[in-house]
Amino acid sequence: MSKLSRIEPKEVCSICGGEYSEDYGGIKGYFGIIPVTFCEWCVPSMIDMVEQITSDEEIYVRKTEH
Ligand SMILES: [Zn+2]
Repeated sequence: MSKLSRIEPKEVCSICGGEYSEDYGGIKGYFGIIPVTFCEWCVPSMIDMVEQITSDEEIYVRKTEH
């Protein structure tokens, strides 16, 4: 798939629809092939959620896998 045919992430947050700014910690990327944009408020919220649903043991295993 060429870069031109790829759908680019939007300029607003995919979760809350808020303004996106890379300078303040916003992130753009892809969930598989789906373009996503996260604002500086939703990024830490997602990290917090992942930490809550991931056990310490699982984090340890992931960190020491490679
Ligand atoms: Zn957001």
